[in-house]
Amino acid sequence: MTAYPSQPDTKQLVQLDASQHAPGSTSGHAAHSKPLFGMDTQDLVSLMLSVGEPSWRGKQIAEAIYRQWVTELSEITTLSVALREKLVAAGWQIGRPIIEQVFQSVDGTERYLVKCSAAGGSVQTVETVWMPEGDDGESGDGTEAEFVKQVGAPCLDSETGESTDPARPSRQRATICVSSQVGCAVNCQFCLTAKLGLQRNLTPGEIAGQVIAVLDRHKVEVGRDRVNLVFMGMGEPFLNYDNFMAAVRLLILETSLSPQRMTVSTSGIVPGIERFAQEPKELRPKLAISLNAPNDQIRQQLMPINHKWNIESVVDAVRLVKLRPRERITFEYVLLGGVTDQPEHAREVARLVRRTGLPAKVNLIAWNPGPGIPYSMPQPGAVEAFRQTLVEAGIPAYLRRPRGRDIYAACGQLKRTVEG
Ligand code: SF4
Repeated sequence: MTAYPSQPDTKQLVQLDASQHAPGSTSGHAAHSKPLFGMDTQDLVSLMLSVGEPSWRGKQIAEAIYRQWVTELSEITTLSVALREKLVAAGWQIGRPIIEQVFQSVDGTERYLVKCSAAGGSVQTVETVWMPEGDDGESGDGTEAEFVKQVGAPCLDSETGESTDPARPSRQRATICVSSQVGCAVNCQFCLTAKLGLQRNLTPGEIAGQVIAVLDRHKVEVGRDRVNLVFMGMGEPFLNYDNFMAAVRLLILETSLSPQRMTVSTSGIVPGIERFAQEPKELRPKLAISLNAPNDQIRQQLMPINHKWNIESVVDAVRLVKLRPRERITFEYVLLGGVTDQPEHAREVARLVRRTGLPAKVNLIAWNPGPGIPYSMPQPGAVEAFRQTLVEAGIPAYLRRPRGRDIYAACGQLKRTVEG
């Protein structure tokens, strides 16, 4: 283990600026309020009809909360004052999750404690991470070329997607790591979130709200800035399937984020993967499988879920997913020093991935240390040697850059270190 601090350095704790946490703000946090955030346009139209308003009022609310990122009902000036007051009197508020605390890493990564309150339920915080410049997790999946195609910009390098026009410098590029549950029940032995156990599922509004809160904080321009979403934060998205997919639909249909810039990672919940395979391509993220071991024997020690669904059953389910042109399945592989990082493990992973017959790539992640977790980081040489073995076997393999280790923002490190 390396000597990372057991708690984030409090000097790095940055309190919210007033614009995001205004005194008296009603955004999202009265435990018994009814949040509009999380309802899609159709729900909002139905709500307006139910209070005797025309249907287009629902579309105005959807526009305000999902595209203009308004956080207070009083700021939706397209609605009459009387209607705004009527909604407040009936207990409605926008109710978008808010960023309560920010930890900033020396590498520019930001980890947020985001305060969520389920309708009528408990208020809890989850963690969301902003990684400027991404973590290279999207490498090799055709995303950059896809971006150039979508934007149709002649001044973008077709390999990198960067601007080649000095008058229009490159856009903001980042990855947001999003949580789907408070805690997690899957109990992967190398993961800090597992220590929390499962506390509750997040609602669609709480999952999508993390994304919008972070986009808003960074003034991201949807459609111009290149922001990837990875559903790899706290929780197992496929054990909260309906809410997770509802959140994805909100982000795609209401905010116009691209599904090709979203990746969901599962520990291998076979019924979830089978349902995912039925989703229309235009309404689903890309799929990553958290593999983390070269065979069932090692995997079931690290990931008890493997007793229920072994590698073969997971791969069989993945084969049902109809891929888009150029799309690849990602196998995420955490390298644990001495446990999963040996040369024979690399050769075994290469054989395993080849045997699947899937268009696939492997993302390697050097394990990030956490308190009370009895593993060690791989040696730097072992990581590159592992990658090289895969590449020589014809398997595209990338090293995910570790981000925000000093603030516990890196993979497997998310656990509420300060309660909201
Ligand atoms: S790695 Fe993911 S699935 Fe496994 S315990 Fe951690 S949060 Fe849950």
